[in-house]
Amino acid sequence: MASAHNPQGAAELAHAGQLLIGSQWQSASDQSVVEAVTNPYTGQTVAEITAAAAEDVEEAVRAAEAGAARWRRTPAHERSGILLRAAELADERVDRIAAILSAENGKTIAEATAECSRSGELIRLATFEGTQLYGETLPLDANPGTGLEKVGFTVRQPVGIVAAITPFNYPSLLVLHKIAPALAAGNAVILKPARTTPLTALALAQCFVDAGLPEGVLSVLTGAGSLIGDLLVSDPRIRKISFTGSTGVGERITQIAGVKKLSLELGASSPTVVLPDADLERAAEAVAKGGYANAGQVCISVQRVVVHRDVHADFVDALAAKVSQLRAGDPSSASTDIGTLITEGEAERVHDSIRDAVSRGARLVTGGDRDGAVVQPAIVDGVRLEDPLSQQELFGPAVAITEASDLDDALAVANGTPYGLAAGVFTGSVSTITKVIREVDAGSVHINWTPLWRADLMPYGGLKASGIGKEGPRAAVAEMTEVKTIVLHG
Ligand code: NAP
Repeated sequence: MASAHNPQGAAELAHAGQLLIGSQWQSASDQSVVEAVTNPYTGQTVAEITAAAAEDVEEAVRAAEAGAARWRRTPAHERSGILLRAAELADERVDRIAAILSAENGKTIAEATAECSRSGELIRLATFEGTQLYGETLPLDANPGTGLEKVGFTVRQPVGIVAAITPFNYPSLLVLHKIAPALAAGNAVILKPARTTPLTALALAQCFVDAGLPEGVLSVLTGAGSLIGDLLVSDPRIRKISFTGSTGVGERITQIAGVKKLSLELGASSPTVVLPDADLERAAEAVAKGGYANAGQVCISVQRVVVHRDVHADFVDALAAKVSQLRAGDPSSASTDIGTLITEGEAERVHDSIRDAVSRGARLVTGGDRDGAVVQPAIVDGVRLEDPLSQQELFGPAVAITEASDLDDALAVANGTPYGLAAGVFTGSVSTITKVIREVDAGSVHINWTPLWRADLMPYGGLKASGIGKEGPRAAVAEMTEVKTIVLHG
């Protein structure tokens, strides 16, 4: 019988067991294998999917070649009409897709519903940007020796085939941040969703198919990233890789991609700085949200809080009072604040990282216990910059606190990891804010909030080991198109 853990309709809505190849649902090749998608809280199978084989990847690329040729010749207003219908369907299906998402991912049903509620508007934003492929005129007569007989301008065209490779932690949002702008800009897309969360991707793809996306334009290849990812990334017919995931896989992509466009949204160890003139209550409230949402499995999660020593004790007390109230457990319950990690193995890794920090001299203020895939929300105080809990991405529900002696020290600690995705600062001083804006090396900087904040329209992407390029519909459409320079010789 269906339950919130194993939602009714997962199989038929998500076309589980089939691959989407060239906008058509079909059985995979004989070489493919069946894999179970597991609920990380109950351990039960949510649905079975097909892990695509090399033959399926080849079929999808061939279909995408035909699809890209067809879609780029489709006028932008026609593309727009189809995508706007997909947005409506995504809006209508929020509850069903959220139930699937929560079951396969382990995030709470409230978090899953909030994520899926952004789908329609995100598709509409991207659709609009796909109608805005402007170029510019070139003042060629300013070139010495050139007369008035030449006219120059640029035109923007789709790259062709985009491969979109997505992680498990936002199975709806991060899929749509890739496929919606790619389609809006006139590209064919091959999506490879995370192996642990393929059902949400299939359910979203169904919205586009039901909206009338033409043959060839969208494929979804479920299965192993090591096989499918390598084949897509190294294929010269694919002109753009849009990847979100770990820095390790991102580095591999840079090594085998060859000459093609890359957008890499990678890992992080995001800091939040709390200074003596901050509103401590507000800072503690924001960190209690930003460090634990989605069980800390957010690339912009607050992993580190760098606190000025004058307010260190008061801040830790204020934070502990809030974090100890958070309830971790059954994702399908409306009263749960924090669901599971994506697998029990990941929960073990996070638990071990917390214990390792304590063995190095840090103090566990609250939380940290593990039961299956659930880890109780933790605060670890006295973590040094050089410790693994600062330097390596945790991706779990724990916040590491490091004391700083002054503003310069705090900024050095904030900048002192290989990553640079996002940062936050709490202060009441405009001159401090100005310095932070100039000196913090992060792709987004939040003043009087934590890094865990995103509007879908904003440019979004990291510096340093956190990645290359920006997402957000306007930026993504720019990165998924090519500029051609045209010169008319009169
Ligand atoms: P991951 O292990 O790197 O996987 C991401 C995707 O890459 C999955 O679809 C995976 O497939 C695929 N993949 C695996 N090997 C591949 C290969 N050789 N070539 C191409 N693709 C391959 O990351 P994750 O554990 O799913 O997600 C967590 C990570 O994502 C964290 O590091 C987090 O910070 C990062 N992230 C970054 C952002 C951002 O905006 N910067 C946003 C969200 C998440 P399989 O699932 O089949 O292995």
